[in-house]
Amino acid sequence: MTTLHITQSLMARGNPLAAPSEQLRILATKNGCPPFEERMRAALLFPLHATGVTVFQINVGKLCNQTCAHCHVDAGPDRREVMTRETAELCIRALAQTEIPTVDITGGAPELNPNFRWLVEQARALGRHVLDRCNLTVLLVQGQADLADFLARNQVEMIASLPYYRAAQTDAQRGLGVFDKSIAALRKLNALGYGKEGSGLLLNLVYNPVGAFLPPKQEAIEAQFKRALERENGIVFNRLYTITNMPISRFLEFLLSTGNYEGYMERLANAFNPAAAAGVMCRYMLSVGWDGTLYDCDFNQMLDLPIGFGAPQHIRDFDPGQLDARRIATGNHCYGCTAGAGSSCGGATA
Ligand code: SF4
Repeated sequence: MTTLHITQSLMARGNPLAAPSEQLRILATKNGCPPFEERMRAALLFPLHATGVTVFQINVGKLCNQTCAHCHVDAGPDRREVMTRETAELCIRALAQTEIPTVDITGGAPELNPNFRWLVEQARALGRHVLDRCNLTVLLVQGQADLADFLARNQVEMIASLPYYRAAQTDAQRGLGVFDKSIAALRKLNALGYGKEGSGLLLNLVYNPVGAFLPPKQEAIEAQFKRALERENGIVFNRLYTITNMPISRFLEFLLSTGNYEGYMERLANAFNPAAAAGVMCRYMLSVGWDGTLYDCDFNQMLDLPIGFGAPQHIRDFDPGQLDARRIATGNHCYGCTAGAGSSCGGATA
């Protein structure tokens, strides 16, 4: 297993890859695949347009209690970007103008944002379904002892990262001891009814590959996870989603430093699937950044590629009519969404 042991973000280490412009330069020039737009044009999907917004994703910032090797956000305890109450209020005001059924809250570790619980309660009061993209260990952080109860009380659906059902692989990607803490957090959620039939509390896990390879078929790996976690840890959950690691940020650092970058890009491009391309999440999602900037997805957010082509670029100018059928900004990183069956959970987790 090849991995990087990360203790600080790219930003804190002064790594040039902390700059989205450097990532975009590498993605545009140094790869083993044809331009993404060419493939989309051949599949009659270029330019790509949204088909209406059914998921309102809010990224509340880059602060996290972990520093995972593959994080596409470059999140960590050293990051200070967090959504303010003022911007959170603009999000709720925008949401109230729509019938968008799902609010998807992500980060960093979104629960560490002081406005997280307010956002959840406001979205629930508007009758919306709320997803929390959770790294699990945050449920054990000091000061968060009541977090699991809060989530259950508000019927928040959990989308929780667990790259593997064994400690070695999970710890290699997410840090020493993370697997054991994740299991303790899952037990806490199970004890509240999460993942149990008839409770109405959904607990979904997210698998992502530990190295420079594509995820296996979802059904097969879900069955393996269910068997192993129940037998060895007494854990139950609803679904396992698989996601492809995006060749950006710290995973891009991993690819470059292990000599895997060009091979990985080639693998993604060779696995281009027009059906996955037609169903990419940016077509039905709007992504709001910690400072209120609007993006087509969380990946474009991390590459500093805001919504373009004349549509509003900030939550204060929110206009559903202009956003519903907007043209989407794409690039070579999008190969990560169109490979194989695509990613199955509408985005990455914290
Ligand atoms: S990276 Fe974003 S813009 Fe590109 S295909 Fe995926 S979801 Fe769409």
